[in-house]
Amino acid sequence: MVIDQQRDPQIPRSAFRAPRLSALAGAPEAYNYAFLDEVSKREIRRALLKAVAIPGYQVPFGAREMPIARGWGSGGLQVTLATLGPGDTLKVIDQGTDAGVNAVNIRRLVERTAPGVATTYSTAEATIIQSRHRFPEESLRADQIMVLQVPLPEPLRMVEPRESVTRQLHAEADYTRVWVHLYEDVITNGEISRASGYPVMVNGRYIMSPSPIPRWDIDKLHQSASLTLLGAGREKRIYAVPPHTNVVPLDFEDYPFRVEDFSGKRCARCGATDTYLDEIIVNGGGRLYACSDTAHCDERVSAERETRNAE
Ligand SMILES: [Zn+2]
Repeated sequence: MVIDQQRDPQIPRSAFRAPRLSALAGAPEAYNYAFLDEVSKREIRRALLKAVAIPGYQVPFGAREMPIARGWGSGGLQVTLATLGPGDTLKVIDQGTDAGVNAVNIRRLVERTAPGVATTYSTAEATIIQSRHRFPEESLRADQIMVLQVPLPEPLRMVEPRESVTRQLHAEADYTRVWVHLYEDVITNGEISRASGYPVMVNGRYIMSPSPIPRWDIDKLHQSASLTLLGAGREKRIYAVPPHTNVVPLDFEDYPFRVEDFSGKRCARCGATDTYLDEIIVNGGGRLYACSDTAHCDERVSAERETRNAE
């Protein structure tokens, strides 16, 4: 394989004397717009349209090989690349932060292969937001699209390992075993113990995994003004929650759904008491809390500084 590459005049000889990934990857212009070829993008868009038409239904699609490993957001990335075009502004967050290594690399790939697409840290400026494990704290608008990376799209996997059976259970809306599973959870743990990826009922029809977002973010899916697209690359599934759709977490009348409790805690940077907080263990064993959504936290800090300067 190396010999073939050395014959390729496109690859400079220096790439073999001192191998560098960037030299082997070649010029960004050598790639199709937004990395994927047009046929692949069309197939993904077709799957997206079907997903929007049947809220919460998992549409199979032929996930392509991406320049990131499966499990690192290859599904979300394919949805993003098939959706964006010139004039779009992309924000990528990884567990709430724009500076995570995965977020940085996905943003860089888009910057290199999709001319005309701007990137941003600001939630308000973005037209497309790709995220792993979090929703931004701000409510999204109708002109924004939320793309979530999904490792395990099948909410029934916890009760049924066979794909053929889970698809049948979805088709017949037979969710008895999920309810029994949740009931057993209450008996064993005193509550529904699911911390992330809490199962939800979409549009009164399909049980859906909302991706590993915390309970805190579930309400952001319910009757959201924005479209939410979910992509699972390894499992080859795409699904969606269209704007203004009912998304209801599964619970029992006497054991109602509740979000994470941060009462008495506040962000050590911006002082927020109304955001999802990350716990940080500091030297000496103490605990600090900070906003998980770092862009939102930064905006609050700089707004505070401006008011202080104005005074
Ligand atoms: Zn904060």
